[in-house]
Amino acid sequence: MRYRQIHLDFHNTAAVGAIAAAWDPARFQGQLKAGHVDSVTLFSKCCHGWHYHPTTTGAMHPGLSFDLLGEQIRACKAIGVATPCYLGAGLDDRLAMLHPEWERRLNDGRNPWHHTADQPGFHEMCLNTPYLDVLCAQIGEAVRNYDIDGLFLDIVSPRPCWCNTCVREVLAAGGDPRDLATMQAKGRATYLRYAERSVSAAHAAKPGLPVFHNAGNVRRGDRALVSYNSRHLELESLPTGGWGYDHFAVSAGYARTLGMPFLGMTGRFHGNWGEFGGYKHPNALRLECARMLALGAHCSVGDQLHPSAEMDAATYAIIGAAYAEVQAIEPWCSEAVNRSDVAILSLEGVTPGQADPAGEMNDNASDTGAARMLLEGHITFDLIDPESDFISYRVLVLPDAVRPDAILARRLRDFVAQGGRILATGLSGRNAGDDAFALDFACTDAGPGAFDPEYLVPAEPLGPWGTPRFLVRAAGRILEAKSGEVLAWRDEPMFNRDIRHYVSHQHAPPRGIHASAAMVHGPAGITCAHPLCRLYAEHGVQALRDLFLRALRRLLPVPLLRVSLPSNGLATVTRQEAKQRDLVHLVWAPTIKRGTGVEVVEDLVPLHAVSVELRRHNAPSRVTLVPSGDDLPFSHADGVTRFTVPRMVCAQRIAITD
Ligand SMILES: [Zn+2]
Repeated sequence: MRYRQIHLDFHNTAAVGAIAAAWDPARFQGQLKAGHVDSVTLFSKCCHGWHYHPTTTGAMHPGLSFDLLGEQIRACKAIGVATPCYLGAGLDDRLAMLHPEWERRLNDGRNPWHHTADQPGFHEMCLNTPYLDVLCAQIGEAVRNYDIDGLFLDIVSPRPCWCNTCVREVLAAGGDPRDLATMQAKGRATYLRYAERSVSAAHAAKPGLPVFHNAGNVRRGDRALVSYNSRHLELESLPTGGWGYDHFAVSAGYARTLGMPFLGMTGRFHGNWGEFGGYKHPNALRLECARMLALGAHCSVGDQLHPSAEMDAATYAIIGAAYAEVQAIEPWCSEAVNRSDVAILSLEGVTPGQADPAGEMNDNASDTGAARMLLEGHITFDLIDPESDFISYRVLVLPDAVRPDAILARRLRDFVAQGGRILATGLSGRNAGDDAFALDFACTDAGPGAFDPEYLVPAEPLGPWGTPRFLVRAAGRILEAKSGEVLAWRDEPMFNRDIRHYVSHQHAPPRGIHASAAMVHGPAGITCAHPLCRLYAEHGVQALRDLFLRALRRLLPVPLLRVSLPSNGLATVTRQEAKQRDLVHLVWAPTIKRGTGVEVVEDLVPLHAVSVELRRHNAPSRVTLVPSGDDLPFSHADGVTRFTVPRMVCAQRIAITD
């Protein structure tokens, strides 16, 4: 798979008039070269429903007079640029106007993309209507007629629909359209039929063609959905487009365990898709691409082409700065596998669909909080689901509410028996059916505490804070330690705040007692009375994060990697077995808030003397900076290789050769 891709959005309503009036293959090629681009996703049909080539299955844009897709593909192939193809699958304005009975409907009758029917916005289609036949014919036509290297089918996922067809079929089957679960099951069946038929339509025309169905997020734990992506995954994650700067680490942490290459997809926009005239700072894109490579991804940057088909020089200057750096280190990334000694057993993966029925944005706060704490502790980790192999990890984190069924409980106990350890927060580790522990933490659960919020008291002084009573904005479980070591205690407020008794502006002060254990270390690992992962995602209390990380380090005394980066720096390790070398990625740039809720990157501040400790069986033969090849002095003792990076700006990779 190519490393330096462009997703060239090209959605045009008829009102824009002429299409591709400024088309010039030489200028098109020139901008691709300026951007160091090696693959560009081009449009067969946009979300307005118009085609960009002659068609017998739809309608060519009324402002287009020639085969633009064919011309674009020829221009790309001539300079060695790959050409996957976009087809708007979930949205089609043109057909919605011709066949309103094919539109998807919410239970209030609206099309999901419209607050009111007089507002502008795309029209989503129901894939349980004859629209699916049309779509599959369009897919077959594009794949048959054009030399495309992949198919990107956009804005499709299992979604409930209350259109007349879906409601009629549910009623005919004896179901109740008022029941959300019934309609979600119907939506899932619709999606699976769509996935099967769309892939078949593509492969009938070109067997083995990579097909990707984009939903904005790869839902953890739903492998049936993942399996319809035939060759690779694309992880849409525009940090300033609503996903945030930490979504991609979570999304990539799961994707790389699925055995398929994957793309990280960001955008050149200041904000989100469709933003003509919106540009992020070039340093932001450098950071985003460096993070993608560190997290095991290939890179894709979203752009939107002007209706004239004139490529935007400012865009390709920004992209070129980032992609030149990607190009320089590709040889160290190709076929590399990320190494992690911790895995988050994803709550979303254990309970697929519960937290986020549409699955379109990662919003599982417990998974997000666990990932943030590990990222900030520079712990290398993956996210896994119950089908994953546990054996390559040393510690599993069970965030907040991972209640194993009998099969998963047995696998977790086997993991512990083989030397692995568990770090469980909140209710995690209890049986699915009751509150008894499925794992031996040398303590019992006596039910929920009566106070919310309450306090947590570490048994040992914690970092700069010592041993105060830390506020925890959740009720804890009452843990009764048996033989386990108590690492922290619960303290209770004098009372819950209500009309009968309240004090000052907020909650009541602590009583100053050890009410019960809050963190216990037993044979299976460590259990925490509070949902620390969700709490960290919501409140970001560093002391609670550090308590969590201190517990983790008890279970993992010599982690794979230790670095002296700032807390929002990213550190990962990849391995190229064929080249017999490890690569340490160090990435850091400060993100700052600008505007209302806009997080941007602007300044790249140098870091000096970044220390690195990498756990390895054997001493390396060389440690070198990449791509310069400059040797770094190193030492190796007790299974750890140590070296110092003298200076880095944004990103530095270091090769450690066997
Ligand atoms: Zn429907």
